[in-house]
Amino acid sequence: MSDTASPVGVAVLGLGNVGSEVVRIIESSADDLAARIGAPLVLRGVGVRHVSADRGVPAELLTDDIEALVSRSDVDIVLELMGPVEPARKAILSAIAHGKSVVTANKALLSRSAGELAEAAEAARVDLYFEASVAGAIPVIRPLTQSLAGDTVERVAGIVNGTTNYILSEMDATGADYHSALADASALGYAEADPTADVEGYDAAAKAAILASIAFHTRVTADDVYREGISNITPADFTAARALDCTIKLLAICERITTAAGQQRVSARVYPALVPLSHPLATVNGAFNAVVVEAQAAGRLMFYGQGAGGAPTASAVTGDLVMAARNRVQGGRGPRESKYAQLAIAPIGDISTRYYVSMDVADKPGVLSSVAAEFASHEVSIAEVRQEGVIDDEGKPIGARIVVVTHRAPEASLSKTVAALADLDSVQRVASVLRLEGTDQ
Ligand code: NAP
Repeated sequence: MSDTASPVGVAVLGLGNVGSEVVRIIESSADDLAARIGAPLVLRGVGVRHVSADRGVPAELLTDDIEALVSRSDVDIVLELMGPVEPARKAILSAIAHGKSVVTANKALLSRSAGELAEAAEAARVDLYFEASVAGAIPVIRPLTQSLAGDTVERVAGIVNGTTNYILSEMDATGADYHSALADASALGYAEADPTADVEGYDAAAKAAILASIAFHTRVTADDVYREGISNITPADFTAARALDCTIKLLAICERITTAAGQQRVSARVYPALVPLSHPLATVNGAFNAVVVEAQAAGRLMFYGQGAGGAPTASAVTGDLVMAARNRVQGGRGPRESKYAQLAIAPIGDISTRYYVSMDVADKPGVLSSVAAEFASHEVSIAEVRQEGVIDDEGKPIGARIVVVTHRAPEASLSKTVAALADLDSVQRVASVLRLEGTDQ
């Protein structure tokens, strides 16, 4: 490192779980980071809402005037670690307009406004990095934007929400129902006071939008992502899953699909799905995340690790900080937004996958054949069918349950089949419909 290298000024917005860990790393690893960058980092200020409290950083660094901090002439790089969408969006746009490079972990914002932020960064010729926005510490944005820049990505599928993975892992391991597994997750700090964003799949959908945009060189927003959460999953679903040598995971799936007319489309979707126990994602338990990328030349790659938490997320943020700082010192810029492919978004009805359908039926002859006939009439081919008696708490027979596993079929055909099944006199209710992912048939 040259003795005369000018310091790189850093502003951190937010001093919560992530921001406080980032500040700690910047201070505790100052010499190493300076050697890697070629110039020292200097923390110019930390933006928070409450400046008065004892925040563990020198009081003179704290400010609640975000606009003044991001426009300071001695700040080169702004780390946005406040969330949620606003005031983060305004702060980032202002920082960029003042010529600062920006690092953000804000998936909610990026899944709505990545295009706007990227255009602003392009106009100002600054960097915009966001490795921490998907799967915390796990490097997945950089592999997609850089390591796989010469390949063609076909599919990105992952477990990108630790809260729901913890809940589903608990349900599988202990037989607990959804509500008690959620209560456990809350008690251990894995679930927010309002868990809606996690359990209803909004957080995973935001990450799916970010991954799909990068993987397929197409702008995909959270509104383009089909989404279902896990709150309807029951212990009976896990019993059925085990009988099929599967478990249940909330998956974010981003896929390049080709229509019957030969046009390429992007599908981005989030839903709970049966996953065979032999699939690598089935072994990802607790609050861990994993992302499997399938590319034409590279084949299958898997990334696994801690998808959230202050220190793991700070690792990804600090990695981006080093990249942005190196660019400041050595010249050059990181990868820009790539949206040249502009693929249309495939509606969920166009997706083909396999399905598990369970229904409570009258226990009488002919029911199985009438159920099978509905699948056949909608051209959904059955791979496996099971019928079992259902008993009440005292062991008295009260009906029967039919479980059907299909071959690959279009979602639209399956939806029509399920509607027709629900109308059959012999079907008391369609208890559960889940997709089966991770098999080739
Ligand atoms: P957090 O613990 O709630 O901290 C948020 C910080 O931002 C607080 O220090 C807060 O100030 C500050 N802040 C919020 N609104 C502000 C405003 N209007 N003006 C000034 N400061 C404001 O959040 P976090 O968990 O660190 O998450 C930060 C970001 O990282 C979010 O975008 C989140 O989605 C993302 N992220 C988090 C994780 C994780 O595991 N936590 C993982 C990946 C990505 P006060 O302290 O004064 O209230």
